[in-house]
Amino acid sequence: IIELENVKKNYQLGKTEVPALQGVSFKIEKGDFVSIVGPSGSGKSTILNLLGCIDTASSGVVKINETATSELTDMDLTRIRRQSIGFIFQTFNLLPTLNVYENIEFPLLLKNRKISRQDKKKQKEYIDHLVEEVGLTGRENHRPSELSGGQRQRVAIARALVTQPQIVLADEPTANLDSKTGEEIIDLMKRINRELQTTFIFSTHDQSIMEIADHIIRLKDGSVVENRRNNP
Ligand code: ATP
Ligand code: MG
Repeated sequence: IIELENVKKNYQLGKTEVPALQGVSFKIEKGDFVSIVGPSGSGKSTILNLLGCIDTASSGVVKINETATSELTDMDLTRIRRQSIGFIFQTFNLLPTLNVYENIEFPLLLKNRKISRQDKKKQKEYIDHLVEEVGLTGRENHRPSELSGGQRQRVAIARALVTQPQIVLADEPTANLDSKTGEEIIDLMKRINRELQTTFIFSTHDQSIMEIADHIIRLKDGSVVENRRNNP
């Protein structure tokens, strides 16, 4: 579903070039539960941004569903971002003035601008189902500021899943949580991965969490130093 071939990424910082990825190659299959690990500054967020089509590689090929992203127009990329990919960021990025329900609904408003009343009803049922799935029933009307960190993260997960994307990208989804809540969040992601065959790719520093992954990609200084599958 995803393939990187000798991908390099340099950031331009004034007149200097900062090398962030120095020739990264790997392949991720549909339904994989992938953990990207490595020290701070090793290139984890950079990879997730490339996979999410929020940034472009300096050289090499990033393929999503067999298509090189460099061959796609901006409109195609926006469509992929809205329809096929869900994002979970380290800092939640929830909209503070919207309640839980509205935050989860938001990507659907971007995806389909006009929908029938009947589809609207189906959407509502699906959002209610997701709210239940992530254990937030009864909190629909809370604003993010009225939730705990773990609850906010669960809103972010539900929001990432609402468009039923093929791929969910999560940049350190457990970084702001205590280890028990972090494990609950990962268990939740794992359950959705099994039930819906959604491909999850997440970065983490947490050893216990990376062991739950069935595919681990380890980076160091912008290179892959380990790429292994855990036996089921
Ligand atoms: P962390 O675990 O701290 O989040 P990371 O593995 O996600 O680290 P990246 O954010 O991918 O690391 O950064 C990789 C390298 O690229 C680092 O050396 C960083 O300083 C550099 N870098 C990242 N973003 C930029 C930017 N916008 N401009 C310049 N350099 C950047
Ligand atoms: Mg990062």
